[in-house]
Amino acid sequence: MNDMAPQVLISEADISKRVAELADEISADYANKTPLIMVGVLKGAFIFLADLSRRLSIPRTIEFIAVSSYETGSVQSGAVRLVMDVRGSLVDKHVLIVEDIVDTGHTLDYLIGIMKSHGPASVRTCTLLHKAESAEVDVPIDYTGFSVANEWVVGYGLDYAEKDRTLPYIGIVNPEDRA
Ligand code: 5GP
Repeated sequence: MNDMAPQVLISEADISKRVAELADEISADYANKTPLIMVGVLKGAFIFLADLSRRLSIPRTIEFIAVSSYETGSVQSGAVRLVMDVRGSLVDKHVLIVEDIVDTGHTLDYLIGIMKSHGPASVRTCTLLHKAESAEVDVPIDYTGFSVANEWVVGYGLDYAEKDRTLPYIGIVNPEDRA
């Protein structure tokens, strides 16, 4: 077992700067589109959602949704299951899905469908990280924090087997080192 700290990929300062930029962009885009409901995807997006939502200069409310991926052995099949839906009504509201990371795109694709079924005025998507090389589905991403390579990243809400979620930076972890 190797408990070395993950290698820094994106520093705390760079995350903070980018979150502020995204918040300015979203605040401008939604200035005339209220009410805005930010829907955070548990668990990974909880820190990003907390920081992003507090930096917006427009009225907004918060909801959470939880999903899990079906696995076949250790291989993810791409199928997604809803574990917890939003509690409040989304009818005629502007929904912004806030994700930690988009990898193959299956999760976000599924979530967009779930959100649309609630009858909102609009649905847009925001992800802190995007593994563009891994895309399997063409899913619309309206706001992206950073593009990352196809490596397992942790920190700032993202975990490896529930570890490293509370690291202040985004780091790279080699799963073989953590077994
Ligand atoms: P997708 O459906 O786009 O393939 O996967 C999205 C989900 O996979 C994310 O919400 C996240 O839970 C998980 N995921 C994909 N890549 C990573 C990664 O590098 N680190 C962590 N912590 N989670 C990841």
